[in-house]
Amino acid sequence: MQKRSLLLSHASQLLRLRGKTVPRRGASMRDLGIIEDGAVLIENGKIAAVGTTDELRAHAKRAEENDCRNKVVLPGFVDSHTHPVFATPRLIDFEKRIAGASYEEIAEVGGGIRSSIRGVRESSVEQLVQHVRAALHEMSAYGTTTVEAKSGYGLDLPSELKSLEAIQQAAKNWSGSLVSTLLAAHVVSPEHRENPDEYVRIVCDEIIPDTAGRGLKPTPHGRGGDIYGKPKGVPLQRTRLAEYVDVFCERGAFTPEQSVRILRAAVANGLKTRIHIGQLTHTALDLFAEFHPVSVDHLDHVTDADIAWLAKTDTVATLLPAANYFLGLSNFPPARKLIDSGVAVALATDYNPGTSPTTSMPFVLSVACTHLKMLPAEAITAATMNGACALNLQHRKGSLEVGKDADIAIFDAQDYREIPYWFGVNRCRKVFQNGKQI
Ligand SMILES: [Zn+2]
Repeated sequence: MQKRSLLLSHASQLLRLRGKTVPRRGASMRDLGIIEDGAVLIENGKIAAVGTTDELRAHAKRAEENDCRNKVVLPGFVDSHTHPVFATPRLIDFEKRIAGASYEEIAEVGGGIRSSIRGVRESSVEQLVQHVRAALHEMSAYGTTTVEAKSGYGLDLPSELKSLEAIQQAAKNWSGSLVSTLLAAHVVSPEHRENPDEYVRIVCDEIIPDTAGRGLKPTPHGRGGDIYGKPKGVPLQRTRLAEYVDVFCERGAFTPEQSVRILRAAVANGLKTRIHIGQLTHTALDLFAEFHPVSVDHLDHVTDADIAWLAKTDTVATLLPAANYFLGLSNFPPARKLIDSGVAVALATDYNPGTSPTTSMPFVLSVACTHLKMLPAEAITAATMNGACALNLQHRKGSLEVGKDADIAIFDAQDYREIPYWFGVNRCRKVFQNGKQI
């Protein structure tokens, strides 16, 4: 079979971000490895060569050529934190919050997370697939090629499994790469508000083991059948339903002790961990050191001790400033201090119906520059290479290097700084996901 080769040539700037397969820290976050008049050769879904246009033309004579004059070519964004499995936007929250209503007042009039839970529980898996798929297509249009997607609006075993199944089904018709996360520990389910520890027990003893066990081996009498109405006997997928367990460790969600129990169950069941932490109040990060979380996310409230701990670990600090923006907050996570202290910082959308209804990574980059005082180069590294590290995909994603997946975004710009500069508009012109142009 003839190899299909495509040469993207004459990029004003090609951002290579090559080098290491460890998270970028400090000054290395500003090193984008820019090649002027750059080119990249794509073969069979992978990057086959990177260099200047002259260099690559020599050994890509038979490649189809795609002229990228006046364009910036960079690795596709890795959106390492999203909640796409929901049914409807939260417009009550939006409007009431503008009018100054509290979280409790919003809940009283039918808004808040409980409305999302109701929406997911009442939706069919097909309806949820539609929503996830629409979000993935929107994300692609903004240059995103890898997405982490969480459950977390079901909060009982069937609805959490339904949410993860929706993520998995949506992924099948998407050429990008998707990583799924079980977030049954988003908040305590409405049924267990009076007894949160019982919900924690259900998460640890039922939801996590059941999720972890699914898809690991072909199951001729798949238990999935009875939940989703599939005929019994249909084998479940071999791919795992979730790779990660996440927990919202926060006042009003789960205490540090409950979070430890949940993460311990995750590790015991062979799942990797990530944590929502420090969004509203401070919790010491080293309480969770034993779990080696791949990422700790939000970090609006961190201490010097947390920062010192983070700087020593490979745990990535994922900042989600679109949530601060959308909530109208004046405080933002201390990106400058984190980066200057040697912490590996990533950026993600936190796409969700309550606090961050955006699929746009370029918008997040813009907020990171204007409000977190990240330099444009740091923001791009945070959204590509460090995002890949935040999903343990640094060997395949996050940079334009030979052998990596051909995940590439092409922006209508001559300078990479234009990507966060032009905010609220979409200048992404082309995207390749695993070599496929979408
Ligand atoms: Zn989140």
